[in-house]
Amino acid sequence: MASDVWTFSEQKDNHLREVSFELLALGRKLADLRGTTLCAVVLADNMPVVELERLIQYGADRVYVVQNPVFAHFLVEPQAHTLRYLVTSYLPEIILAGATTTGRTVMPYLSMLLHTGLTADCTSLEIEPETGDLLQIRPAIGGNIMATIKTPDTRPQMSTVRPKSISPLEPDPTRSGEIFFQNVPEKAFRTRMHFEKSISEGRGNAALEEANIVISGGLGLQGPQAIALVESLADALGAAVGSSRPPVDRGWQPYVRQVGLSGRTISPELYIACGISGSVQHLAGIQTAKNIVAINSDPAAPIFQVADFGIVGDALQILPALQKHIEQDL
Ligand code: FAD
Repeated sequence: MASDVWTFSEQKDNHLREVSFELLALGRKLADLRGTTLCAVVLADNMPVVELERLIQYGADRVYVVQNPVFAHFLVEPQAHTLRYLVTSYLPEIILAGATTTGRTVMPYLSMLLHTGLTADCTSLEIEPETGDLLQIRPAIGGNIMATIKTPDTRPQMSTVRPKSISPLEPDPTRSGEIFFQNVPEKAFRTRMHFEKSISEGRGNAALEEANIVISGGLGLQGPQAIALVESLADALGAAVGSSRPPVDRGWQPYVRQVGLSGRTISPELYIACGISGSVQHLAGIQTAKNIVAINSDPAAPIFQVADFGIVGDALQILPALQKHIEQDL
């Protein structure tokens, strides 16, 4: 039998994040193809057992938990060194983490400690039947091609997976599995960093990758004042706010909101692009969005080629009108 498939279960304040359940759906598929066990790994300061049991309900066969006060806040060193200890003890074949800020910080550190390969930001994963190698599929070259990347020579094979690439499985309260609390040598918890304070990214910025609806404004909004129209509609829809690059370069929007090749990569259910032309660099960040609505005054704008719904007109007039309709319907 092949060795195990692992998923890294992200948590905040001892609550599991949605991406942890999405990874289990992907991990379950891979573990079944390999005829092996799916294990979820949790690093937390004090997660209740009832929360840990949710991982089993969502597909894990086994849960490895390390509890320590150092995991109350995100610090990369203790997370990476603890994972290294577990990985070298159990030798999993595959490790999946979310392509979130946490996953994209911890996994490169861990892959460096393990001297193995890591493919970032995958949108799907398959198994090569002849070799059992993990086929790690992700957009490349500005989103113009899908690349398939393998790690044939080293183990474990490590990938970060874009949030919302897959839906979680239906939870099954009757599923059985085992929870193991792990002892790890104290030195794994050592760190040269300490937690000072957390600073909110501000309204509409948090977890852009996890938002179901994202509304972005581009250069077509013509100035920082119009960003308020986007924020106001976002509030009405419970959406997060994004941006193309030029408003960020001009200081109208913070960098954390930038979507695209040199910004964030997102997969919301609904993406609304206002005054955005649809450059390849912007589209690279929204390739896996489920539905795209474009508002643009130029009917020939390239964004309309990828949009599911298009509105040709002045975004400065359409945004308030749209908000009025939405609020009337609520
Ligand atoms: P424009 O291309 O200027 O488009 C503005 C649009 O608004 C036009 O289509 C216009 O018709 C429309 N418009 C004008 N007035 C109105 C109105 N009143 N109502 C409605 N529509 C209106 N870009 C990103 O977005 N993200 C990235 O991560 C990114 N990374 C990059 C990395 C590299 C290496 C490079 C070279 C470029 C990158 N870019 C990125 C920049 C990218 O090439 C484009 O310049 C940028 O995406 C254009 O932004 P925009 O669509 O807002 O502006």
